[in-house]
Amino acid sequence: MVTAAHSRGETPGTPQKNRFTGPARGTRVLVAGGGYVGMYTALHLQKLLRPELARGDVEILVVSHDPYMTYQPFLPEAAAGSISPRHVVVPLRRVLDKCAILIGEITAVTHAKRTATVSTLATAEEGTGAVEIPYDHLVIAPGSISRTLPVPGLADYGIGFKTVEEAIGLRNHVIEQMDIASSTRDPAIRAAALTFVFVGGGYAGVEALGELEDMARYTARYYHNVKPEDLRWVLVEASDRILPEVGEEMGRYAIRELRRRNIDVRLETRLDSCENRLVVLSDGSRFPSRTIVWTAGVKPAPVLAATDLPLNDRGRLRCTPELRVEGTDRAWAAGDAAAVPDVTSAEPGALCAPNAQHAVRQAKVLAENIAASLHDRPAKEYAHKYVGSVASLGLHKGVAYVYGRKLKGYPAWFMHRVYHLSRMPTLNRKARILGEWLLSGLFKREIVSLGSLEHPRAEFALAAGATPGRTPEKGPGTTRNTDTKRTENTGDTGSPGPEQD
Ligand SMILES: Cc1cc2nc3c(=O)[nH]c(=O)nc-3n(C[C@H](O)[C@H](O)[C@H](O)COP(=O)(O)OP(=O)(O)OC[C@H]3O[C@@H](n4cnc5c(N)ncnc54)[C@H](O)[C@@H]3O)c2cc1C
Repeated sequence: MVTAAHSRGETPGTPQKNRFTGPARGTRVLVAGGGYVGMYTALHLQKLLRPELARGDVEILVVSHDPYMTYQPFLPEAAAGSISPRHVVVPLRRVLDKCAILIGEITAVTHAKRTATVSTLATAEEGTGAVEIPYDHLVIAPGSISRTLPVPGLADYGIGFKTVEEAIGLRNHVIEQMDIASSTRDPAIRAAALTFVFVGGGYAGVEALGELEDMARYTARYYHNVKPEDLRWVLVEASDRILPEVGEEMGRYAIRELRRRNIDVRLETRLDSCENRLVVLSDGSRFPSRTIVWTAGVKPAPVLAATDLPLNDRGRLRCTPELRVEGTDRAWAAGDAAAVPDVTSAEPGALCAPNAQHAVRQAKVLAENIAASLHDRPAKEYAHKYVGSVASLGLHKGVAYVYGRKLKGYPAWFMHRVYHLSRMPTLNRKARILGEWLLSGLFKREIVSLGSLEHPRAEFALAAGATPGRTPEKGPGTTRNTDTKRTENTGDTGSPGPEQD
C-alpha cells in the first residue's frame, strides 16, 4: 500500500507518482463513480463552487471505471444501430473541465479515516498495489450491477445489458448468428443460432428485445435464406406482467404488441438452466439457443460491501432524505446504490426506485447540499413523486404512462425519443443523436456487424504466423479466415458470453 506521504513524489528530481494520494490543496470532494449521479453531481458542484474551485479552496475528484458516463436508456437504440456507441456516452473530461478525473477502481472506503482505496492501470503497471486517497467529503455513487441467480450455465453463456460494450457486443452477435444460420447446412445449428432468449421483463429487457428484434427483422431482408419468421424471440418473465414502470394496462398492451410480432412472451416462467446452450424453462420447455440475455434486475455495486458505511438488507446504502449516509458526517449517496426514503409516498418505509428519473434529480439536490454544508447552510430533503415512464418497443413503437396519461404506438415512441433526447447531457451529444436520427430517416438502417473489432489483433496474428491456439484474441475475426468448416458444421463461433474470449 502506498501511503500518502510516500506517493506525493515531492522530492526534487523524483517523478510524481500520483498527485491524488497526498492531501488536497483545499477541501477535497471525492466522487466515487462517474455514472448518472457521479457525473451530474460533479457537474452541478463545479457550477455551484466556481469561485472556490478557481481559488483552489475546493477540489472535486471523480474516480470511475471509465472516462465516460453511459446514458443507459439509449443502450437499446445503440444495440439496434440507431445511435452510434460513441454518442450514448458522455466524456467526463470534457464535461467536467473544472474537476480532476481519475480512471480506476475504488476497492474500499474507510470513512472513519476519510480514505478511499483505489487501483488504477498505473498502479497495476507499477506494481505498487492500490493507493489510498484522502478526502473531506465523499459522494458514493457506484450504481448497480446485474442481479444474477445461480442458474446452471448462466455464467458461461449469458450476457447482461448494462454497458455500451454489452449492447454493441450483442448487436454484433445477433447479426453474426444470422450469418451462421445463413451458411450452415445443419438445421439444429440454424435453429439455435436464430433463437434469442431474454430473461427479465423490465424496461432494459423489453426495450433491448424490442429494438434488436426490429433490427434483425429488417436485416433479414438482405439474406437470401433467412426470413423474419425464421427468427425466434423469447421473453421469459417470472412475474405475471412486464414493464411494471408503465402501469398494468400499458404493460398488457406491450405484451399484446410483442406477441403480435410473434415474440414468445412467457409470463410466470423462470430460466432453470442454460448449460451447453440448452435453455430449460420452468414451464418444462427445452430448446437450444446461442443467445441468452439476462436483464432480471440489478443489485448494488459490490464495492459497497467493502466500506464501513451502513447498508440495508438489500445491500444499498442507508440514507437520510437529505442524501447523507445515515449516521455519518460528510458521506453522501444517491442513485441505484442508495436507499433513499421516498418522502412523497404514504407507504411507511418506502424507498426511491433505482432509476434514472431519481438519479438525475437526486444528483442536483446532493450537489446543493454539499455546497450548503461547505457554506454552513442547512441541507434540504430530496422529494420527487415518480411521474411514470416511457419505453420503446422498437422503431416507431412504444408505450408510455406519464402524469397519469397513457400513450401507445407511435406517439409513445416519439415521446420516448423527445424525453430522452432532452435528458441527454450536453448540446453536443443532443445534436449528434438528433443528426443520426434524421439521417437514418433518409437513408437505410445500418446492418453491418463489426464483431471483429473486439479482436483487433486476430488478422495480424494470423499474418505473422502466431502459433495456432496461442493467438491472443480468438473469435469471429480468426474464425472467418481459418476455420470456416468449423463454423458451418458446428456453429461454434463467437457467443456473447465469456467463452468468446
Ligand atoms: C438498458 C437500460 C435502460 C434503462 N432505461 C431507463 C429509463 O428508461 N428510465 C429510467 O429512469 N432509468 C433507466 N435505466 C436505469 C438507469 O440507467 C439507472 O437507474 C441509473 O444509471 C443509475 O445511476 P447511478 O449513477 O446510480 O449508476 P450508474 O449510472 O450505473 O453509474 C455508476 C458508475 O460508477 C462506476 N463504478 C461502479 N463501481 C465502481 C468502483 N468500484 N470504482 C469506480 N467506479 C465504479 C460505474 O462504472 C459507473 O460508471 C436503464 C438502465 C439500463 C441498464
